[in-house]
Amino acid sequence: MSLPVDSHHTFALDSWKISEGSYDVKNNYLLESLFAQGNGTIGLRGTHEESYCGPAGSSQEGNYLNGFYESEPITYPENAFGLARNNHFMLNLPNGKGLELWLADEVFNLANGRILSYQRELDFKTGILTRIVRWESPKGRQIEVQSERLVSFVERHLYATRYRVTALNFNAILRLVSTLDANVKNLPAGDDPRVGSKISAPPLQMIRYQNTPTMQAMEHKTTHSEFHLVSAIAHASEDWTAEETNGSAEQQVLERYFSAQIEQGQCLSLCKFGSYFSSRDYPAKELMQRSVEYLERACEQGFEYLATQQAAYLDAFWQKADVEIAGDPALQQGIHFNQFHLLQSVGRDGQTNIAAKGLSGEGYEGHYFWDTEIYILPFFLYSKPEIAKKLLEYRYRGLAHARQRAREMGHQQGALYPWRTIGGEECSAYFPAGSAQYHINADIAYAVKQYLDATGDSDFIVNGAAEMVWETARIWLGLGHFPTSTPEVFCINEVTGPDEYTALVNNNYYTNAMAKAHLEFALRLVEQLQQESTADYMRIKKQIGLQDEEIIAWRKAAQSMYLPYDEALKIHAQDDSFLAKKKWDFAGTTDDKYPLLLHFHPLVIYRHQVCKQADLLLAMLLQSDQFTLPEKRRNFEYYEKITTHDSSLSSCIFSIIAAEIGEHEKAYSYFMETARLDLDDTHNNTKHGIHTAAMAGTWMCIAYGFGGMRVINGELHFSPNLPQQWQYYQFQINFKRATLNIRIDKEGTEYRLVDGDEIHFHHGEQSMHLNPEQRRVVILK
Ligand code: BGC
Repeated sequence: MSLPVDSHHTFALDSWKISEGSYDVKNNYLLESLFAQGNGTIGLRGTHEESYCGPAGSSQEGNYLNGFYESEPITYPENAFGLARNNHFMLNLPNGKGLELWLADEVFNLANGRILSYQRELDFKTGILTRIVRWESPKGRQIEVQSERLVSFVERHLYATRYRVTALNFNAILRLVSTLDANVKNLPAGDDPRVGSKISAPPLQMIRYQNTPTMQAMEHKTTHSEFHLVSAIAHASEDWTAEETNGSAEQQVLERYFSAQIEQGQCLSLCKFGSYFSSRDYPAKELMQRSVEYLERACEQGFEYLATQQAAYLDAFWQKADVEIAGDPALQQGIHFNQFHLLQSVGRDGQTNIAAKGLSGEGYEGHYFWDTEIYILPFFLYSKPEIAKKLLEYRYRGLAHARQRAREMGHQQGALYPWRTIGGEECSAYFPAGSAQYHINADIAYAVKQYLDATGDSDFIVNGAAEMVWETARIWLGLGHFPTSTPEVFCINEVTGPDEYTALVNNNYYTNAMAKAHLEFALRLVEQLQQESTADYMRIKKQIGLQDEEIIAWRKAAQSMYLPYDEALKIHAQDDSFLAKKKWDFAGTTDDKYPLLLHFHPLVIYRHQVCKQADLLLAMLLQSDQFTLPEKRRNFEYYEKITTHDSSLSSCIFSIIAAEIGEHEKAYSYFMETARLDLDDTHNNTKHGIHTAAMAGTWMCIAYGFGGMRVINGELHFSPNLPQQWQYYQFQINFKRATLNIRIDKEGTEYRLVDGDEIHFHHGEQSMHLNPEQRRVVILK
């Protein structure tokens, strides 16, 4: 049951769904992102089945395949050596959702006639998007149309719609036109650098099509990336009579017609199944046949079967991943919504990753960033570790590209991961806030370490992790040096940290601290393999030509890493020059000038003390034990005043640190901003896609912020507190093959071993151990 709509929220506050009770074209574009569906492979924007007739700019039809991209050369009016050469962008694919319903001579469309009632909802437990509309045509015919859509979590190439039509006050012949339409376009590049792609020619070339009574299919090839794609649809219905088919390569659309006589009160049902198969997964010549077999099977199984599978998959997911908050329905909805979208967005085949906007829109062109390792991976690691491993495998597969990129950037050895990419190549056309973010290497190593600490997966160490961590560690020695003026410290110059409002600086604290941790981790893996697996150690070392002198140099650099600190202010400096810059005039900057990146030249921004996002504060979270609590307080106080949070990656980190230093109200309000960032469209750009890093940041706020969770020296620590607005909250952590449930209420904290043989952890200063004899412990306040 839906609760009444809160005036502050667009949606009724229901924990397990979002629903829309009336159709308003003003919200259409935004809701297409929020109602988007996906399964990590396919993503469909939440557009309506009927062709859209609203005003220009109020909709973007979008259907995507994770990792399926076109590549275009980047044109620089002023060239320079080593700039990224090609851009990748996630392609908008032929749309197979279309269904056009004719009531005799009138077409059903939300933009015409009269909507008598309207309800649409996306349910996080069933994974189904349901829309029920009662509509009156201009000539007075009334119908009810119920459509249900799913993108199967189990069958990763499949999506399906069940479309049911009931005649409320008339008898007539109905016609239904089902389409597969390749007249699609990616959003063109405009003023906002975060949206749109520069495309020189239509990226999808039709190779052949098949239009038979059983299936409509098209095969396309991309122009530059040379991938093949087969998009196909098929139908199952006992109520409708299948008629002719229509379509041609020139029109780029295939149609299948159905007709039926409907009597007043009668309901007619049709199921439509769609699939995408690409040469990224299978040889091009197999794609058509695979589609035939796949869709035949889907038609036999039927929609109901897929819906049952879908619900079972989600039930298992929620049992592992559910975060419960009692006392705040808006937050509860926000959290479930975010977790659900993360699951819909994440690639889990080791070849694909998770884009900044998931599979819900074309913002950031479908690129993968450091967002994955630093923001998103923890959620999967501690709830579905097998997915976290796939994300790391994706990076391992990209090692060859990263090695090549390192050479282009002048490094004789090692590997440098791209700042943004789909296929593995660096795609950042603006290097000051892109390629210069060398911290990407350390972020990946950090994620590998987190993964190994949480899973103990020693197999991965010798089958990818060590090679990746060592190759990326080598970059720091090529990049940094011991200056002649200060030979005792290792410095890293001319990089950009996470804060994109400060670029090309010396000794960015975050980068240096993460590089230090990276080198230490590389050394730990050296020692571990030397002791436990000498043969593997020698094999990997030989394979990458790693010399003993390099290992010695890593130790020296790590020990002498320079970490800027300002004695006068008693805070850590974001970089060497940051604190000497002029402070931004916040009082003189009106609200309409945010985000600053859309209103000021980068140089104006760079020469001021102003942060787009958490930078030093993120170092305080990831290298938590390197700072005292008073230092954390002082740093928080200083950087909070100069941070705009123009990046959606910022508020969650501020919430976590605020919780740690006892700023509970702030922790709560930053958390609110993160948890409902897309639902409330607070960044005003969710129409271009959801913000996956912020979504996962919500989970971090619960676990790391309010739960006070940290993994220090491989051990799990909690230091929980309960926001006064809540009765209780609970979440689960999967750690070393055990599942721990943590429930915090006004009385104290309960830890429960839900699964596994034992778990060891710390509650504040207390060391705890649970096993099958003692599964539960309650620690009173
Ligand atoms: C942020 C980056 C982030 C990117 C993609 C930018 O606005 O500044 O840190 O990686 O968005 O989410």
